Amino acid sequence: MNEKRQQILIIAGSIITGASLLILFRKQIATFLNFPLKAYFEAKTEEALLELHPKFRNVAKRFLKEVEDKLGYTPIITDAGRTYNEAQANQQSGTGVAMSYHLAPIGLAFDVNFKNEQGIPVLVKASSKTAWQPVVDIAKKYNLEWGGNFTNVAYDPVHFQYSYVVQGRKPSELLKLDRDSNGFIKI
Ligand SMILES: [Zn+2]
Repeated sequence: MNEKRQQILIIAGSIITGASLLILFRKQIATFLNFPLKAYFEAKTEEALLELHPKFRNVAKRFLKEVEDKLGYTPIITDAGRTYNEAQANQQSGTGVAMSYHLAPIGLAFDVNFKNEQGIPVLVKASSKTAWQPVVDIAKKYNLEWGGNFTNVAYDPVHFQYSYVVQGRKPSELLKLDRDSNGFIKI
């Protein structure tokens, strides 16, 4: 074996070992660096949190963290903070949820599933009200409205929204408000 080939093998070996260690010890690393959620490595969830309105982001994090701590469930945010343009495009093409209903386009709602410690999804759209109840009890503490209680639209237990800050204004009115430099409405 020539020297160059040997070097390449050593580098490849190091990368594989490094990546494996990172995966194996991700929980410990996350704890050490004080990341707020175990789900930090669920890139989708982390990205989704950043898409939430600044007034809602920490409320959402604290809620999800408490669910993790008390129930041992890891959140997987499946949808959050669609931008105004995305929401408008959805509405025009007739796909997705109409802007007038959903608070997601202004970053005040998200859809979430939960996995247990074995990585098995335990709370999903098809799960019963009873199964969701422990999470919903925690959501109440954070003034979150739950889609499982919606009466004007279909049962949507994965949906949580923070209508507390909108003070009776309709989503359609909120969409017209001024926006900050990051595109979030000023509320
Ligand atoms: Zn939703």
